[in-house]
Amino acid sequence: MSNKLNPKRREGPITTGTSTTSAGNTSSAANTSSSSSSSLSSAGGGDGGMSADLTSLFECPVCFDYVLPPILQCSSGHLVCVSCRSKLTCCPTCRGPLANIRNLAMEKVASNVKFPCKHSGYGCTASLVYTEKTEHEETCECRPYLCPCPGASCKWQGPLDLVMQHLMMSHKSITTLQGEDIVFLATDINLPGAVDWVMMQSCFGHHFMLVLEKQEKYDGHQQFFAIVQLIGSRKEAENFVYRLELNGNRRRLTWEAMPRSIHEGVASAIHNSDCLVFDTSIAQLFADNGNLGINVTISIV
Ligand SMILES: [Zn+2]
Ligand SMILES: [Zn+2]
Ligand SMILES: [Zn+2]
Ligand SMILES: [Zn+2]
Repeated sequence: MSNKLNPKRREGPITTGTSTTSAGNTSSAANTSSSSSSSLSSAGGGDGGMSADLTSLFECPVCFDYVLPPILQCSSGHLVCVSCRSKLTCCPTCRGPLANIRNLAMEKVASNVKFPCKHSGYGCTASLVYTEKTEHEETCECRPYLCPCPGASCKWQGPLDLVMQHLMMSHKSITTLQGEDIVFLATDINLPGAVDWVMMQSCFGHHFMLVLEKQEKYDGHQQFFAIVQLIGSRKEAENFVYRLELNGNRRRLTWEAMPRSIHEGVASAIHNSDCLVFDTSIAQLFADNGNLGINVTISIV
C-alpha cells in the first residue's frame, strides 16, 4: 500500500470510519456524504491527507478559521468567513467589492470534507463534517477549561490539569478544607448587593469548589444559591454526590445533587435554580451573628 511510503502524513487514521470521534459521538459515523467522500479519498490515496489538503482551501485569510456554508465570494472569487465578512468593507485579498455571490461548488466540496475540531490544539483528534462541527465543539472533551471562580472577572483558560495550579497562583485567598464532611462558613451574609463566597474542599483525591452566591432578584429581594463543582470532567463528576445542609434551631434544609463539572460551570445551574436556593428570611433562621454555616458532605456514588 502506498500509505506506508508516506510517513510524513500526520493526519492520523486513514480510515474514514468511526474511530476518530471522541466518546459519545460514535452514532453519527454513518451519514449521507460518505459515498462521495470515499470517491474523493480514493483519488487522493488516503482520506486524511486529501482532506487536509482540501480543508486548507477553506481557511479564512483573516482569522484562519474555516469558511463554511453558506459560502460567499468576492467578484474575483476569494473567500472570507461569515464573521470576518460582517466587519469588512472590501475583500481582504484583492480589495475588490464584497459581492453576494454564492459559491455552490465550494459548498459542495465542504460537505464532503472532514474538518478538524477547533480544539485540536488541546488534543482533540476528531474530524467532522461541517454540519456536526459546531455541536461537537460545544461539548468537546478537549475544550479548554475556564477559571471556575464565580463572576466573570478572571479570563484564564487552559487544560484541566493546570486549573488547580492557576487557582493556587492567582486566587490565593481561597481556603481549602480537607475531608468529605466539612462546614462552609460564609461570613457577613448581610452584606448588601451581589456577593460570592468560595471555598475549596479536598477529598477522595479530588478538589471541589463550593460556591455561595447572593443575588438581588428584584428590588430588595435577595436570594442565595449554593452549589458544588468538581475540578474535573463531567464524567468524573458522575462518580460523586454532594449534600448541602442548613441545620440549626431545630430546623433543617437539605439539597442533594451530582456536582457540576467546572467544564460546564455553575452559572446555568444557578440560573435554573438547580442548586440549594433560599431567601434572606431562611438565611436568617440559620445564621448566627450574620454568619451562615453550610454543612457540605461529598460521597462516592
Ligand atoms: Zn475569518
Ligand atoms: Zn477578492
Ligand atoms: Zn473536539
Ligand atoms: Zn482565575
